[in-house]
Amino acid sequence: MKQITVPRIGMRVVKTAVAVVLSYLVFVPFRLLYREELGGVLGQLGPLYACIASIICLQSSLGQAVQLGVSRLIGIGVGGVLGVATLLLGPALDNPWIKAPVLGAVCVAGVWLCLLLKRPGACVMACILPCVILITGVTGVTRYYYAAARIIETLVGLFIALGVNALLPDLRPEPEREAPDLRVEVKNTTRKLCVIGDPVGHSKSPVIHNTMLSALGLDYVYLCQPVPRGRCREWLDCASFAGYAGFNATMPHKEELVGLMDELDEDARLFGAVNTVCLRDGRACGYNTDGAGFLRALDDEGIRPAGGRVLVLGAGGAAKAVCLKLAQAGAEVTVCNRTVEKAQAICAHDPGRLRAAGFDPDTLAREAAGCRLLVNCTSLGMEGTGRQFGDFSFLDALPKDAPVVDLIYAPAETELLRRAREDGHKTVNGFGMLVNQAVLSLEHFTGAEIDAAEMKKLLSGVL
Ligand code: NAP
Repeated sequence: MKQITVPRIGMRVVKTAVAVVLSYLVFVPFRLLYREELGGVLGQLGPLYACIASIICLQSSLGQAVQLGVSRLIGIGVGGVLGVATLLLGPALDNPWIKAPVLGAVCVAGVWLCLLLKRPGACVMACILPCVILITGVTGVTRYYYAAARIIETLVGLFIALGVNALLPDLRPEPEREAPDLRVEVKNTTRKLCVIGDPVGHSKSPVIHNTMLSALGLDYVYLCQPVPRGRCREWLDCASFAGYAGFNATMPHKEELVGLMDELDEDARLFGAVNTVCLRDGRACGYNTDGAGFLRALDDEGIRPAGGRVLVLGAGGAAKAVCLKLAQAGAEVTVCNRTVEKAQAICAHDPGRLRAAGFDPDTLAREAAGCRLLVNCTSLGMEGTGRQFGDFSFLDALPKDAPVVDLIYAPAETELLRRAREDGHKTVNGFGMLVNQAVLSLEHFTGAEIDAAEMKKLLSGVL
């Protein structure tokens, strides 16, 4: 039996309903419900256009509603002026053979003016108003009242829509961005790279690497390869046999790969995790570029952690790379994590510089005091997780000149970064680290020297 899907009543529907009701109610106290016996503009006023305007103006975000509202206002202005101007033709408009071409010409002029003002969203209003003014059959001076009434009603609707959009919360999830249009040229000589993971479909690595490869004119293609957990050995054999030049690894393969490498770089050995594998002459060489990518991202922002106290939140895979590199760079690091044992395990690598602590608000506030830098390595605030810090009071204890870094890059500004920025802290998101670790990987794969600043500029327009 065919299932009937019932549409969800979301926030946009609620906002529209509220705006329509308000658009109607605004007219009631003044008894302005199309009382034709009243002369002038007031007699022509009624809630219909206010309701229509509020419906078409209500979009998911206030920013979009403001943009639409401004376009509608421009449309009203253009349409109103043109429509009223046609009334100057007087009785000639009673002839339908004259009225029709005048209407056509006015609409074309309205659309042309709106496009000239770079407001395509204004075109509809610029046409509707002259149509209403000319087609209604209202005659004499009442036409001017009629035009003025429609303009006033529409303005009322627009302002109500903007007010409702501003006052009611927007509970819609951020719209999913379309996957960038990737065009990769593949030749018989093209060498293969990929990212493996489980799952891996969400990975941004293919778009990042293919964009860089194409900008650098390097003859490689970068693919997305699902590999089930625990099957890295088989994948290594397949990749060598298929002639891959290398691959990146994401969850859950980074640790498993360590024991399968013929060579390991110092960071991969230190973190016990591999995120980059180069396949050269039948040998697998494992690297980890996360920590170096993080330090480079700090350096790009002029943040020097050496000699100061740093508070790191989280003790997952990313936190381990961050903490050990910060300690190597000469910082004193406190690692605060919900599961304190995981923080202790990281700190065991360098007890002289690393110290573990809990994640409750009091501990966070105590540890934040006197820090030179705060780095969030938890997934709290990450797009799609729905998880958020329960308490931001630790920001009050953090010295105002301490930058706040969040490894998360989607959304570009997490709630933590927003609050920190509003409190006057310098804020940095995870985009710089993402690009820098990818650049370092690509340098390992290809042997090319790559300008990370150029790549950051290039990728900010793509991601
Ligand atoms: P992970 O290994 O899963 O670690 C997640 C961390 O978040 C753990 O410390 C975990 O604490 C903590 N956490 C999760 N939910 C929590 C909650 N409700 N309350 C308190 N703590 C919570 O992840 P990861 O690989 O380290 O990645 C962490 C973040 O860094 C992710 O958002 C990721 O996108 C980002 N990242 C960015 C880059 C970049 O290039 N910019 C690179 C790597 C990672 P427990 O240990 O108690 O579970």
